[in-house]
Amino acid sequence: MPRMIIDVHTHLFPPRMVAARRQLTAADAAFAEMYGDEAARMATADDLLASMDGVGVDVSLAAGFWWRDAALAEEHAGYLLEAAAASDGRIVPFVPLVVPSTGSPGAFGGRLTELAARGARGLGEVRPGNTPGSGEDIDAVLAVAGEAGLAALVHGSEEVGHRYPGKDGGYTPGGLWALMEVCAAPSTRVIAAHWGGGFPFYALMPEVRELLSSGRLAFDTAATSLLYDAAVFARAFELVGAEHVLWGSDYPLRDQSADRAAVEAALHAAGAGSAAREAVLGGNAARFLSLDAG
Ligand SMILES: [Zn+2]
Repeated sequence: MPRMIIDVHTHLFPPRMVAARRQLTAADAAFAEMYGDEAARMATADDLLASMDGVGVDVSLAAGFWWRDAALAEEHAGYLLEAAAASDGRIVPFVPLVVPSTGSPGAFGGRLTELAARGARGLGEVRPGNTPGSGEDIDAVLAVAGEAGLAALVHGSEEVGHRYPGKDGGYTPGGLWALMEVCAAPSTRVIAAHWGGGFPFYALMPEVRELLSSGRLAFDTAATSLLYDAAVFARAFELVGAEHVLWGSDYPLRDQSADRAAVEAALHAAGAGSAAREAVLGGNAARFLSLDAG
């Protein structure tokens, strides 16, 4: 058994936001796209902890929603930090932050430090398409986040394929390359969600391989079964190496239990040995995010 099972991609909402779901759809178009359908699940910290207990997940990285409105982002961040503080290390908070178009990255240094001091471990799930500022403004803030001790979970957007709520507004492979060019500090840690929108193919380019060797970028498997054939695991291992792949479920969009089972089956089908399995299900995340294994 892996030493520690870590799910790097879950979403939590404060109970107030779950209750106010309908009003919030009027306040944020991207939220309406993803959560306007009442069938789209929203979970609280209690829901997540109960799921983790049932599935045998030791630690979950919990992100918020990337709001356009600063007050909603702050409320959401506050809830994630509170839930994490009460979780005995089981919830690792990645918080939303609004970057206004007028903001300079320098002006955000204090804000990032403050969030880190309150217990934040990262920003997420970053959607440059849902912000009052530009994607470049956000990239500039992420470039200095590592120095404050904050990693980033960024939404990956495929440039091809079927439509689904929330597909757009994240990082395409091109956007991710541009982000990583700006995020050059060795302290940078970026998890590119949903296999980075297809970025792993480019690891066959020497300069992209060099980027991966720097240890600043990893990919999560979130919502794989909704996007790709399970063979994506074997192909990605060939392209980027299992050491750059982190299990993420996208709970509660995906049931944590069903997703873990699907990933275990995909790892088996990909011929992953016990070391690779342990790495993808937790070891890589523990190393990448410097999570205490004790
Ligand atoms: Zn996402």
